Order: sequence, then C-alpha cells, then structure tokens
Amino acid sequence: MDGMEGVRPKYGTEKRLLLENMELRERLKETEETLEAIRNGEVDAIVVSGSAGEKIFSISSAETPYRVILEEMNEGALVISETGVILYCNNRFSEMIGVQPEQLTGSDLISHIGESEKSKFETLLYAGKEGRSSGVFLFQPKVNSLKYLHFSFCPLSFGGIGDVCIMAADITELKKIETELIDARENLENQVADRTEKLTATLKELTSSNEQLIFQNQINQTLEQVIYISSHNLQEPLRTISNYIHVLTEDYSGSFDERAASYLESVNEAAKRMKMQVKALLDTSRLGRGSAKVQADLNVLVRNVISDLSSMIINSGADIEVSEMPLLNVFEIEIFMLFQNLISNAIKFSRKGVHPRIKIYSEESDAYWKFSVSDEGIGIAKTHFDRIFIMFQRLHPDSEYEGNGIGLANCKKIVDLHHGTIWVDSILGKGSTFNFTIPKNTL
Ligand code: ADP
Repeated sequence: MDGMEGVRPKYGTEKRLLLENMELRERLKETEETLEAIRNGEVDAIVVSGSAGEKIFSISSAETPYRVILEEMNEGALVISETGVILYCNNRFSEMIGVQPEQLTGSDLISHIGESEKSKFETLLYAGKEGRSSGVFLFQPKVNSLKYLHFSFCPLSFGGIGDVCIMAADITELKKIETELIDARENLENQVADRTEKLTATLKELTSSNEQLIFQNQINQTLEQVIYISSHNLQEPLRTISNYIHVLTEDYSGSFDERAASYLESVNEAAKRMKMQVKALLDTSRLGRGSAKVQADLNVLVRNVISDLSSMIINSGADIEVSEMPLLNVFEIEIFMLFQNLISNAIKFSRKGVHPRIKIYSEESDAYWKFSVSDEGIGIAKTHFDRIFIMFQRLHPDSEYEGNGIGLANCKKIVDLHHGTIWVDSILGKGSTFNFTIPKNTL
C-alpha cells in the first residue's frame, strides 16, 4: 500500500505537471498569437508598456453587456493609463469632443485638452489615481460650438498597473442655464440698483418738495393771519370814513358846489366797494375757523340754500332740479356757502332771455362723493378754467354781471378744507358744470 501510495502521487504529480506544462504552453502560444494579432492591428486592443511590464488591453475580451452599456450610454467613458494614454473610450466621448475614436485610442488625453486647462487636468489625474476627483473642462468640437464636460476620475487597478477611469458628462446645457441664471441675477441686481437710485432721487425730491410745502404752508398761514387781522382792523377806519361821508353829505351838502358833491359821491362809492371787498376778505379768512364738522343732511342743506335764493330764482324764472343727496360729516356753514355760490352763479351767468335750467346732483364712488351743479348758461372758455378759482379774477365787467370775484375762490378754499377737488367743465355759449369731490376717508 505504501509503495502504491508512494507511486500514485509521484505519477499523479508528474502527470499533473505535464498537463499543466502543456496547458501553459498552449496559453503562451495563445497569448503570443494574441499579442501578434494585436501588434498587427487584427484585434481591438492595444499593448501598453508599464512599470510592471507589457500590458494588453482588449475590449474584445470584455463582457458583451458591459461593452454595450458603455457604448450606448449618454456619458463618455474612458480608461486611461497612469501616464494619461487613452486605452479605451466610447463613441459618445469621441462625439463629445469631436475627435474620431481611432485618433483618440492610444493618444495622450492631455493633448486634446486646452492649454489653459492642462495643469488642472494633471492635478485631477494625479488625484484620480489615489481616489476620486472631478472637474469641468471646455472643449471645442466644432467651430462656434463649445462644450463643457464634467470629468469624474476614479482609479482602476488591473494587473498592478494603475489605470484611471473617467466618466465624462456633457453639462453644456446646465452651464448655459447657469450662465443665463447668473445673467438674469445680474440683470435683476442692476435693475434693483437702478430703481433704488431712482427711488432715492425721488425720495430726495419728495423730501425737498415736502419741506417747501411745509414752508409754503407756514407762509400761507401767516398770510391768512395777516389778511384776517388787517381785514378785521380795516373795518373800523372804514366805518369812520363812511360815517363822516354820511355826516358831510347830510350836514354840509349845502356848502358843496356840484363838483365837490360829485367828488364826495365818488369817495362814498369807493368806500362802499372797499367795505364790500374787506368784508369778503374777512369772510374768506374766516372759512373753517372755529367751526367743527357736523353730520349734515345735504338734502336739507341744499333745500335751505334754494330757499335763501328764492327771490333770485323767482326773478330769473330758474328751474332747479336736485337729485338725492347724502348725509355727510362736513363744515356745514361752509358747504352751505359753497352750494350758495355755485347755484347763484348758475342763475347769474344765464344766457340773456333764456330761463336758467339748473341740475344739482350727487354721485357716490368708492373713495369719495362727487357733487355737480350744471347750468345751460353763457359758459366759460377753456383758457379760463383755472383762472376763475383765483381770488378777484372775473371774466366780465361789473356792469355786465355784478360780483366781486371772490365766490369761486371761496368755493375752492371750502373744498380744500374737506381735502377734495373742484373743477369746471364748460362749453362757451352752451353752459357749465361745476364739480367738486369730498373724500370719504376725511368724512
Ligand atoms: P363773481 O361771481 O363775483 O364774479 P366768482 O368767483 O363767483 O366771482 O366767479 C368768477 C368768474 O367766473 C365770474 O366772474 C364768471 O366770469 C365766471 N363764472 C363763475 N360761474 C360761472 C357760471 N356758472 N357760468 C359762467 N361763468 C361763470
């Protein structure tokens, strides 16, 4: 048994060694044939000399499914040697950088990289041999066409040679969107800066005009004070002048010749006019002074105005139509004066021989109440629309239409007091409509 056992292993070892030897010879032959075929360009592979000797890289030896995936996927795939020689690249990568596959395989990848990005590539390749690294490179596959490729490097170790695998993704569209976003942001920032600058300028202007308004307001208040005091104080000497004119006329009329009597008459007339104007000024400066807003039924108020003007209405044969009026919180006496001025003007400035037809109406809107007094009178030329609201501005001589040119200035002041607006719409020879608003938020 011992002998048998001793022979069997010997025989077995020899035979096994012989078989192994044959097998090795066979493989060596195959390898040599493969190498020869590769050298002759008959096989899809290349031979690379590295520190560990010659190395064959053959795609034909790869598993078919992986190869199909590598060829069909949307990313570029490359295997490069540790020195940067392209051992393999799929068609997608060759399309991406616009270089034929046969020109790529076996060439140095760095030779396809732009001069300015070469050192970045070297750094990333060096890092990619040790672990993962990534970076973006710019290629120009065609004239007027730039491509941004994102390279992910990772080490691949086969047979002791340190290859590096690179996955290349085309991020040109992403870059485009990123650039558009950056541009849009820059644009927005510019717009914001521009608006801010304009707003600052407007704010500055507003502050300055506000200061001017405050200053103007102070002047106006002082002026109103002066008007109020002087018109009030002027009444006393005016009364004295009138009294003495009266005394002179009554007691000394016999002592005057005709000329002196006519002078006295002129002085008397002038004093009367002056008295009227001073009173009007005093009335104006009293508007809104000392009175408070009250809840007023404007139906009643307008009815009272019409009743006050009854003799004027009867004499002129005026026909007045009034729509439903609201209940409002207003300076009642002033609003009374406002309607009184507008209605009496509508009667006064009627066309000769035509009975005045006047309509008074109110209209509610979200923010305010609008009131209108319209007539079919002589009308006003457009050029005078603003002028008539200024104190003492009259469009007709006293002999034609009596007045002092203060009524509409008062109307404006009353509307201003209520923070509203007053304006006129008119056609010369056809009639006028005086409109004014009273905002609801100040009611
Ligand atoms: P007065 O009535 O005392 O002249 P107002 O200030 O009331 O002063 O009016 C100023 C001027 O506006 C009037 O002289 C007149 O020329 C014009 N005016 C005012 N109301 C009317 C109107 N309803 N139709 C035509 N003109 C008008």
